[in-house]
Amino acid sequence: NKQFLLASRPQGQVSTGNFRLVERPVPEIGEGEVLVRNHYLSLDPYMRGRMDDARSYAAPQKLDEVMQGGTVGEVVASRNPAFAVGDKVLAMFGWQLYGKSDGSLMMKLDTSRVPIQAYLGCVGMPGITGWYGLNKIIEPKAGETVVVSAASGAVGSVVGQLAKRKGCRVVGVAGGAEKCRAVTEEFGFDACVDYKAGKLRADLKAATPDGIDGYFENVGGEVLDAVLRRMNAFGRIAVCGLIAGYDGNPMPTHEFRSILTNRLKVQGFIVSEHMEFWPQARRELAQLVGDGALKYRETIAQGLESAPEAFIGLLKGRNFGKQLVKLI
Ligand code: NDP
Repeated sequence: NKQFLLASRPQGQVSTGNFRLVERPVPEIGEGEVLVRNHYLSLDPYMRGRMDDARSYAAPQKLDEVMQGGTVGEVVASRNPAFAVGDKVLAMFGWQLYGKSDGSLMMKLDTSRVPIQAYLGCVGMPGITGWYGLNKIIEPKAGETVVVSAASGAVGSVVGQLAKRKGCRVVGVAGGAEKCRAVTEEFGFDACVDYKAGKLRADLKAATPDGIDGYFENVGGEVLDAVLRRMNAFGRIAVCGLIAGYDGNPMPTHEFRSILTNRLKVQGFIVSEHMEFWPQARRELAQLVGDGALKYRETIAQGLESAPEAFIGLLKGRNFGKQLVKLI
């Protein structure tokens, strides 16, 4: 079994030296246990926070332990009556080829209408994050304008498509012309602003002629400031992520006053604290994907060895849609 361990904590930007690849025997299973061969590993921005030894909503990843992470795979040995060899499962086995479990925290997957790896993306934690922030915090009404940052990503692309289905005007913010083109042409947003093009404020103004009623925040920094200037009275901001600051870069906000003058609701959330909504959200998202009504992009790195580079790329925006590592 190959595994990546956290070798050291990053100082600022993550480097490949923060990880160590080790090879260990494939685990033996005991009574009640299940052995899974992982097919895909999910790489997610939250992993950056866990690499630090700082107080946060989740405990830090321990040094010299397998990097944590979501996985999908197939049961290859079972001494647990609830799982049979060949079952496809979602689990949190982390950055390794095989995982062993007593069956708890493992979910059987129906892959008849949804590809297995989508359970790590738009039908998994990122999709449910978009579903929750949009439906439970922004609560958009038809005709309102909703802006989404990191719009081409795993979370952002779901948010925009769900908001479109609710009859909103939907504007994405993404880095680069290619990503912006996909956001409008593939995901069906009404417009997309390229924040790297050098005229963020003017472009956002042009794309939101009626102002902004809902903002799904994934990024922070200058994008947040530009949005705050365009918010309408009683607008809602779901603070989902602040990726521009995850490596420790300062993110000053100069437009805080807009929260007062526009009587905004600004609410952060952590999707894993709202498990009661996961079954409903997953059902709805799986239905849409199965019907071909929810589009998604993936960036797939080949082989466990490529995980550190792919993770560093995710934090720099080199991914295009859900970042996965194919392990088989
Ligand atoms: P994405 O697939 O969106 O990938 C991350 C994207 O962030 C990159 O592609 C890049 O897009 C953008 N980005 C990176 N650095 C910067 C920067 N400095 N400034 C602006 N944009 C940047 O990842 P996810 O969809 O998985 O996650 C999106 C956000 O949601 C993250 O902030 C994540 O932490 C958060 N999240 C929060 C959860 C919660 O419970 N609160 C749960 C899951 C995710 P581009 O090239 O367009 O800049």
